Parts: sequence; structure tokens; C-alpha cells
Amino acid sequence: MRVFLEILKEHIINNVNEIYNYAKKPIIAVVKANAYGMGSIEVSSVLERHPKIRAFAVACLEEAIELRDSGIKKPILVLGGFLYKDEISYFKEYNITPVISSDYQYAFIRNEDLDFHLKIDTGMGRLGFFDPPDMSSPRLKGIMTHLASPLDKEYSIYQINKFKSILKALNKNMEIHIQSSAGLLYDIDFTTSVRIGLALYGEKPYEEFIPKIKPIYRFGARLVSLKAFKKGQKISYGGSYTIPKDDTLIGVIAMGYADGVPKQLSNRWFFDFKSQKLPIVGAITMDMTMAEIPQSIDIKIGDTAYFVNENQTFSKASKLLKTIPYELMCRIGKRVKRILL
Ligand SMILES: *Cc1c(COP(=O)(O)O)cnc(C)c1O
Repeated sequence: MRVFLEILKEHIINNVNEIYNYAKKPIIAVVKANAYGMGSIEVSSVLERHPKIRAFAVACLEEAIELRDSGIKKPILVLGGFLYKDEISYFKEYNITPVISSDYQYAFIRNEDLDFHLKIDTGMGRLGFFDPPDMSSPRLKGIMTHLASPLDKEYSIYQINKFKSILKALNKNMEIHIQSSAGLLYDIDFTTSVRIGLALYGEKPYEEFIPKIKPIYRFGARLVSLKAFKKGQKISYGGSYTIPKDDTLIGVIAMGYADGVPKQLSNRWFFDFKSQKLPIVGAITMDMTMAEIPQSIDIKIGDTAYFVNENQTFSKASKLLKTIPYELMCRIGKRVKRILL
């Protein structure tokens, strides 16, 4: 095996405990998009056994069925609901709960034998009802909204208050959820659970977030070549790096942009080998990345160097690229073997 993503079970459990201790509410674990690239089956198998995980949430029916087929028994919410009427039979067969966001979807299920949650658009500007439909159905088991800019206090409080006013029309108890990871900034007394993705995986949505959250991933690959170059020789496509002096050691690490190492990090990022830095040199290629090996580092062919891990996180790389950790995590490639440790 050349390229892999080690998932640290202990860190998943740590993060659930930390989030629970902070939020004091059960957690709906958001494992859409293959658990943000981490491997939904591997991650969910750990979450399933944790008593503070109340349910799972995914984006679409296919992701939910994958979880059921892997043995997940807890409730599963499909945040995107459904599109076609013939999906409904699968929701029933697999005991999966859709989140209903529109009159279009509601018309399909109102007379069906299927529990559902409702999504309200209080300012996200994406899915959800502006005004809720009839909420008297005994099949209605939950209601939710989503914050658009959790770090913006004024806008978020406006959304929270708007949601609260809609809840006045409810005449029974049900699951009520608003907060995502960054939404934990707000202490909301009328919700019953929190809907958490990013923080479960050990990324912090802002600097002062729960301090003991730990990255659950170590994403790396084997060193497959090591050789000394002469001054003036060039590295990789386009020759964007020129060897500065004789006897410079260059290693080839068996992961590239097909695995989720963004090409824009060429000449700008490092691999981590036993907490020492190996600077990436030259263009990152599809399957391989070159790194300079300082003379003091004792690395040999077959050793593992990490693109991201506890020392250098997705958040840090994403700042360099002016994006968010979510995007880099979702880019982790298909051939990357997920290993639960
Ligand atoms: C993805 C998503 C979440 C999880 O957000 P994090 O920032 O990863 O915690 C929660 N709710 C909805 C509706 C989402 O789409």
C-alpha cells in the first residue's frame, strides 16, 4: 500500500466527548461526502457505539444506504431529502428519515408511512421553507434550520430568533436542531441536539474553539525514491524548482493531486516525517510529489511521510490556498486506503 489515511479511533471518541461536554446535548454526526473524505464506514463504525451520538446525517439517499449496508442502526437523516417519488420506497425499506425542504417534496410524502424532519430557511438562502407548511402531521419528528454565517453574531441571532418564532406553532415535542460546529458559539436553550461535522474530525471552525479537539487523520504515503541531484538540475513538470547545490537529496512520495494533494501547494507546503519538515519541491503530479530531504533526516525508501497530520492540519493548508478545510478534506481521492487505528 502506497497511499493511506490513518483514522485515529481514540481521537474520534475524544472529540465526541469534548463536543458533548461543551454543548451538553446529544450529537447528530454529519458524515456526508464520505465523512468529509475521512471514510464514512470507518468513522461511523466508531460513532455508532458512542452513547452521545444520537443519529447520523448525510446529503443523499445513496450515502444513507451505504451506512445501513455497513451495519449502522442509529437513525439516519438525509439532509437533502429526495428528488424522485421512487426514492420513497428506499427510505421506508432502509428506515431512513428525509429532511423535507419544499412543497414539492412535502406533496410526495404527506400521505406516506414515513417519518420526516422539516427544514426552515431562516436566512441560509439554500434549502428550506420560508414559511413552514402544516406541522400537525404525526409523522413530523423534527425541525431544523442552518446558520449561514455562524461567526456573524448579529445575523445568527436574527436567524435563531426567526426559527424560535416559527416553533411557537408547534404543539408537540420533537427533535429541534440548529447548530453546526461553528454554531456551537451560541448557547441555544430550545434545541434538543447539535448537528456536527467538522469538529468530529478534529478541525476547529475558529481559533478559540474547544481546545482539546484533535485531528483524527494522518494522511500520507510511502517514500518510493531517494536520490542525490546536482546543482542546476530541475524537478518535475515545468521545471519550477532548480537544485541549488550538489548532493541535494530529493525524495519521491507516492501521492499526488489524484489523492487530494492540491497542485497549488507545489513549492509551498511540507511533508511531515517524525515531526521534521520535508519541503515540497517542483510541481505536484497526479500520483507523486517530490520533497527535499535535509541531510540531517534519516528517512529510507518505504518510510511514510505525511501530507497532513496533527502537526500540519487541513485548516493550515486551506488558509494558504484561501479556501476552507472542508474542501481539501473532500478532495481525498478514491484510491486512498482508509485505515482505522
Ligand atoms: C454539513 C452540514 C452540517 C455540518 O456542518 P459542520 O460545519 O461540518 O459542523 C450541519 N448542518 C447542515 C445542514 C449541513 O449541511
